[in-house]
Amino acid sequence: MDKDFHKTFDHCPACGSTLQFCKELGEELRERGLARPEFIMRYDMRQGVVVDQNRAAPMPIGINLPGGSITTDICMDCGAVYAVDIQRIEGRTQAAPLPTGNKPLPAFDKFSLGNIRAN
Ligand SMILES: [Zn+2]
Repeated sequence: MDKDFHKTFDHCPACGSTLQFCKELGEELRERGLARPEFIMRYDMRQGVVVDQNRAAPMPIGINLPGGSITTDICMDCGAVYAVDIQRIEGRTQAAPLPTGNKPLPAFDKFSLGNIRAN
């Protein structure tokens, strides 16, 4: 996969609607002046690296692992939950979590996703 892979989807793959439930809720908040102009609400955002759990320990420190960022929303016309943004990222293994809150990316595989916000 291209390391710069990044794709966005602006309509429902099932019915073609462009109305996204959580995005609309966020816009309502912005219109009332209760959120920043750039604020965009989404149903879920997950980010993590891919790890084979049978080889996770001992994983060498400082190696790059392929990972991804997945953002979803809900179609207001048919209820489908679908990806609105998918992006390949890189994560680096670390010795221990940093005390400042800069956490290493969690591992995910096809069955479980790490659960941290971007930024
Ligand atoms: Zn739909």
